Amino acid sequence: MLFETEKKAQTFIKFNGDEIKSQTGYCPTRTYYCVSCCGFHVTSKTDSSVIVSKTDIVLEKYREYKVVHDEKNRVNKEKQRLRKLEKKKLMM
Ligand SMILES: [Zn+2]
Repeated sequence: MLFETEKKAQTFIKFNGDEIKSQTGYCPTRTYYCVSCCGFHVTSKTDSSVIVSKTDIVLEKYREYKVVHDEKNRVNKEKQRLRKLEKKKLMM
């Protein structure tokens, strides 16, 4: 089963975990990102995932990078805006 977002996968576990456990004996406990599907799956295994945790690390780094990057963009735009304002002032 594939979920578009981690949140959807977690919601699925929340609402269907007990039912799945009663049917299969396994309760999905966590979500993981799947590179080949570009989405999230749920799993009951907790230890299977050297690859998954590597993916998580990469994703986490990417998120951090993006935050820093976005902040830099914001600051740059603000600087540009201020520079334009300065120019306007000089022309007046
Ligand atoms: Zn997959």
